[in-house]
Amino acid sequence: MSEHGSHSILVVEDDPAVRNLISTALESRGYQYSTAETGKAAIAAAATTSPDIVLLDLGLPDVDGVDVIRRIRTWSNMPIIVISARSDDSDKIDALDAGADDYLTKPFSVGELLARLRMTERHLGYMAEDAAPQKSVFTNGGLVIDYAAGTVKLEGRQLHLTPMEYKLLCLLAQNTDRVLTHQYILKEVWGTSQDGDLASLRVFMGTLRKKIEESPSRPRYIQTHVGVGYRMVRV
Ligand code: CA
Repeated sequence: MSEHGSHSILVVEDDPAVRNLISTALESRGYQYSTAETGKAAIAAAATTSPDIVLLDLGLPDVDGVDVIRRIRTWSNMPIIVISARSDDSDKIDALDAGADDYLTKPFSVGELLARLRMTERHLGYMAEDAAPQKSVFTNGGLVIDYAAGTVKLEGRQLHLTPMEYKLLCLLAQNTDRVLTHQYILKEVWGTSQDGDLASLRVFMGTLRKKIEESPSRPRYIQTHVGVGYRMVRV
């Protein structure tokens, strides 16, 4: 596993001011980086230089950023953090459903950018560990899921989850540090993506949080991304 700052980043951004801001921030933290200004150049660079992480602006002059994600996902699961100028949630949702791992909304601070990179780097570390034989036990802070036994413990105490709560928790755990969209969760857990089911997802999330969060109104393990979805964070 590499230390923070030693990963290589591909920055895809057509706006020179934003590109310079990002490049300067990366340089100051000792990251290696390369840049691309178009979607086509981004796909070529991702294929030839195999960066560790891609920072991808969604509004590119030639190809839609979401199409760039779909293309990269045909051969690689390299982490992709999307940068969106549009406050419209549907762009982020399309990007996440196409396989992006996280998103930043413009305007963002350098601190925010570096925090997202650190989170993604932690995720890279876990991906490398997981490449070893499949782990049968998931641990995050005081939360332990034993996949083989089908049991969940919190601070050593056995929890009683319904089958749906368990499925939901496992899906989030297997995608720790990634934002999962409502639609993706509904498809994976319920096998459906009807809008009406969003209400039941909220209900199940509420009951699950009551069981795993000390303070369900200020959750530690599962973040809410309003209008977008949920993410389990490494605590
Ligand atoms: Ca742009």
